[in-house]
Amino acid sequence: MLRLWSSARYVFPLPADHRFPIEKYARLRERVVEEGLVAPECVHEPARAPLETLRLVHTADYVDRFFNGRLSSAELRHLGFPWSSALVERSQRAVGGTIEAARAALEDGIAMNLAGGTHHAFADHGEGFCVFNDVAVATRILQREGRVRRVAIVDLDVHQGNGTNAIFAGDVDVFTFSMHGGRNYPFRKVAGSLDVELADGAGDDEYLTLLDDVLPRALTRAEPDFVFYLAGADPHEGDRLGRLRLTFDGLARRDAIVIDRCREVGIPVAITIAGGYGRDVADTVRIHLQTVRVASGARMPHGA
Ligand SMILES: [Zn+2]
Repeated sequence: MLRLWSSARYVFPLPADHRFPIEKYARLRERVVEEGLVAPECVHEPARAPLETLRLVHTADYVDRFFNGRLSSAELRHLGFPWSSALVERSQRAVGGTIEAARAALEDGIAMNLAGGTHHAFADHGEGFCVFNDVAVATRILQREGRVRRVAIVDLDVHQGNGTNAIFAGDVDVFTFSMHGGRNYPFRKVAGSLDVELADGAGDDEYLTLLDDVLPRALTRAEPDFVFYLAGADPHEGDRLGRLRLTFDGLARRDAIVIDRCREVGIPVAITIAGGYGRDVADTVRIHLQTVRVASGARMPHGA
C-alpha cells in the first residue's frame, strides 16, 4: 500500500486573515484514511530534518538565523509567515517528510509527502511561503547516500520553482522541468533545464496536450534515476492565485500522465503536494486527494 507522510499535526500560528491554507493539510490527512485510499498505519509522522541536513542545500547563515528567530522583518515579509518556534518545527518536519517519502519511493517505486514542494526557497532565503527547499534537500540526501545519481524534478505547480532552479543551476545531474503560468508569480523567473510557460486562462486540452508532448522528451533528456513530482493544486480553475482553468478531471489526468510515464520507464517517483489556494479549501483538498488516488493505483514492485 502507498506510504504517505503528513506533518499536519505540526501547525504554526498565522493571523486570522492570512491566505495560506494551513487547514488543508489536516483535512487531507483525514480524508485519505476516510476514503480508504490508505490504511491509518500507512500515514507516517516525519522526523525532523536535522540542521546539518538542511545545510546540504541552505547556507549555514540562513539556517542558523531562521532557527534562532533572527530573520529581518524584510526577510519575513518576503517569506510570508510570521516567525515562531512552531514554524521551525513544522519546516523541519515537512522536509523530513519528503526525505522519508523519497527513501520509500526507492523501495516501493512511489511514495508521497502530504506536504512539501516548497520550491520558492533559495539556498540563502525563503519566499512565497517556502522556508526550506525540501525537494532539493532530499535530492542531495539521496545522492550523498549513493542511491541515485541523476534526478529529474517535474514541477507542475502553477508557479515557477525559482528557488529550485537557482539551487540546481549548472548542475548537470539534476534536471528541472516546470510548466507554469508565464505571467504569474514569481515575476522574475529563474531559468531551469526546461521551462514551459502557459498563458493566463489555459485549460485542460492545451495543458494536457503540451504535457503529453513535452514530458517524455524531458525525461529522455534527463535520463533520471529518480523523479520528484510537485503536484500543485493551483492550476485549478477555482484557485485564487492560479490564473489557469484546469478542471478536477484535467488535474487527475495530469497526475496520471506523470505517474504512468514514470512507471512505464521504471523510474521511482516521490510526490509532494506543493501549492493550492482554492476559493473553497475543500476543492484544494479534493485535488490533492486525486493525486493520492492516482498514486495509490500505480504502486510499482521494487526494482520495476
Ligand atoms: Zn504554487
